[in-house]
Amino acid sequence: LTRMYAPLTALANARVEVMSALVSFERVFEVLDLKPLIADRPGAGAVPHTESGVSVRFDDVTFAYPSADKVSLASLEEVAQLDSRGGETILHDVDLDVPAGSMVALVGSSGAGKSTIASLATRLYDVDSGAVLLNDVDVRDLTAESVHRTVGLVTQDGHLFHDTVRANLVLADPTATDDDLWAALRRARLEDLVRELPAQLDTVVGERGYRLSGGERQRLTIARMLLAKPAVVILDEATAHLDSTSEAAVAEALSEALVGRTSLVIAHRLSTIRAADQIVVLEGGRVVERGDHAALLAADGRYAELYRTQFATASAAGPNTA
Ligand code: ADP
Ligand code: MG
Repeated sequence: LTRMYAPLTALANARVEVMSALVSFERVFEVLDLKPLIADRPGAGAVPHTESGVSVRFDDVTFAYPSADKVSLASLEEVAQLDSRGGETILHDVDLDVPAGSMVALVGSSGAGKSTIASLATRLYDVDSGAVLLNDVDVRDLTAESVHRTVGLVTQDGHLFHDTVRANLVLADPTATDDDLWAALRRARLEDLVRELPAQLDTVVGERGYRLSGGERQRLTIARMLLAKPAVVILDEATAHLDSTSEAAVAEALSEALVGRTSLVIAHRLSTIRAADQIVVLEGGRVVERGDHAALLAADGRYAELYRTQFATASAAGPNTA
């Protein structure tokens, strides 16, 4: 029983970004001892990359969380949950265009469907109608391995394996040297901390090892993302719920990590939102507004309301206010 149980426990702890942040996609399935349930189409290819990077497009996407047969990766517990919760349409006719190298901020109240969009962009689920495209190719015509290598997802609860700092990092790039690892840690604002750990890169972290704070864990997943070098980065409220010192460090690491990449940022910080090339407002699974900060404020609609009730106050309390 113990032997059967162990992989399921590991899986229950695993989060979406485990798959998406890691280059070594097959190794994840090896580690978690399971198989993807969305199989590659015969003839599925790799994401075509161009000089400017990779664009992300949602073309008239409608989506309901599925029953178990459509899930790409799930534990038995998760499958049971999905069966009872799925069915209701969550996204309605969503159009979204993130040109290669640009940054789009996605805002909207809780339950609007923002995280669902993040999941679809990494093809954890398939859409019911419409399409999700990477560089104009439907993700259903791409290999899962290539999609996960191209699109990196950072969420607020970054998953770490109960293993050394080094092991957690090299999953993203098995060829990385120690110098590469230290460089990634430096850029993720984590070098000083790891230098002071008892065994530095060989210190075991995680629940039963050296306990990192939420912000530190998140910066370690950012370091991993920097090593994986995905062309597209999706941040899901990545700096929410951190104390302001941690948040400032994470925000700094992230803004550097996004340079030269395509990014879709689910944001609550005004400085992030204002830095975006385009802001998309989602409510009730529909895009209700889009434009830049000034235009949306002038329109005095949903964005202006969110701005007055959330972003303005959230940013006034924190550092790095735009
Ligand atoms: P947001 O990130 O904007 O807060 P979500 O995308 O997480 O919104 O959720 C949108 C809707 O989808 C909510 O009604 C939520 O209850 C539902 N939902 C989220 N995840 C699942 C799931 N795994 N199965 C079924 N319904 C879900
Ligand atoms: Mg969410």
